[in-house]
Order: sequence, then structure tokens, then C-alpha cells
Amino acid sequence: MTYQISFSGGLGSGVSALIAHEQGLDFNLIFADTRIEDEDLYRFNDDIASAVGQEIVHLTDGRTPWDVYIDKRWIGNTRTAHCSTELKTKPVMAWLAENAAPTDPLVLGMDMSEIDRIERAQRNWAPRPVVSLLNRFEVWRPDYDAILARHGIRKPRLYAMGYEHNNCGGFCCKAGLVQFERLYRTNPERFAWHEAEMERAIAEIGDTARPFLRQDTHGKTHYLTLREFREQLEAGTAELPMFDVSGCGCFTDEEEYA
Ligand code: SF4
Repeated sequence: MTYQISFSGGLGSGVSALIAHEQGLDFNLIFADTRIEDEDLYRFNDDIASAVGQEIVHLTDGRTPWDVYIDKRWIGNTRTAHCSTELKTKPVMAWLAENAAPTDPLVLGMDMSEIDRIERAQRNWAPRPVVSLLNRFEVWRPDYDAILARHGIRKPRLYAMGYEHNNCGGFCCKAGLVQFERLYRTNPERFAWHEAEMERAIAEIGDTARPFLRQDTHGKTHYLTLREFREQLEAGTAELPMFDVSGCGCFTDEEEYA
């Protein structure tokens, strides 16, 4: 049996690879690249791959999430993340169909705190088993630093900037205002690139295009573009919610399989 590790660039999948190596398991590292990843993700993935002595299976069809939104004529949002379906789930499924036994487990870098996401993924990927090596070997988040230190590997830099995930370079169509304020503050050039891509997508899709950012004012929900949100930030009028979504349901969302 070969464990097929979804090697997303996140801490959980990186630590899962180190654990698989330490436990002497047979495994592959499968990385589905959205082409808008943070540059330090590639450094982290390469460090892990070299520590475990494996080549990375690198999957990409050349598109970014914005290219997918234009192709599908629908900008991804909290309910429909076809970027994840097209750029992650489908390529990984196709690769597994060609290269793995049907009984090889897919390994996701999630732990007990994300049991609902693991269970969703198990339903969605059936009959292929989906497992968490972090749970199996009782590895908890506070253990990650020590495991990385054993192999002399630095965490991806986005975590130190306050991001919860290392996906899509801090962007996510499922994320809310708080994460996009962080992107504007920590990487204004990247925010500007996404702002321009959103304008391109709206121009190409036409009247039915709807941005994913939502703002509630006087009980009414208003959808706003990244340009409008940046203008609010520059004018000092942006109000950030106390609780907000941080995005990323890659590989687990049920609507992806509808
Ligand atoms: S992190 Fe967000 S934007 Fe990137 S592929 Fe996943 S759902 Fe899409």
C-alpha cells in the first residue's frame, strides 16, 4: 500500500510527509499547483521533499483560479470554489486513477480539530480511503515546531504573517474582509494583482459576474470588488467584522462534486 499525500504546501501536509518518512511508510507527495502560490511555499515543499528523499509529483494545467472563474463564467465564492475542483481535486483524481491502486489512501494534512472536514472528504472521495496520519500517530499542532526542527525546516512564512493557511499565496475566494485586509497590508503588490485580475474577470464574464467579498450594512449584504475594498481601506472607512471566514475548503467541499 502506498500513501498518496496531498502535499498542498500547508504545515499539516508537510508534517504528514515527515511523519510518513519517520514511520517508514511508502508514500508519494502530490502537489497541485494553482500558480498563485506564495514563493516560500515552493521552498517549504522542496525542503520537506529533500528531507524525506522524494521527488514531488507536480500537477498543473497552467491556469490560475482567475482563469478558471473566466472559463466557468462565475467568480468563485464561499459556496462554489470551482478553482479547487479544477486545479486541485480533478488533477489529483486523474493522477491517482493512472498511478495509484484504488485502495491506496489519500492523506490529507488535517488533524482532529478538523474532523468535520476529514469526514466530508471521506464521503467525497469514496471508495478511495481518506486518512489523516496526524490523527493516526497522534500528532498535534503544538508538536509541529519540534518535528520541523528535527529536520531543520522553517515554517512557510505566511503563518508568521497571520494567515491560517499557506494556500494560494494568502488569496482565497472563500475568505472574507479580514483576510483581504491582511493581504493588502502584508503584500500590497499581490493584492493589486488580484484586484486587476478581478477587474479582468468581471469585464470578460459580463453582467452576471459577482465579486466574492461581502459587507453587511444596516442588515443588508452588499458585494464589493477588491478595488472598492481597497478604496475603503485607503479612505479609512472599511469596517472589519469581528468574526470572519479565513477561506480554504480545498479537497473537502461537497458542492465541488455536484
Ligand atoms: S485556496 Fe481558495 S482560491 Fe485557492 S484553490 Fe482553494 S478554494 Fe480556490
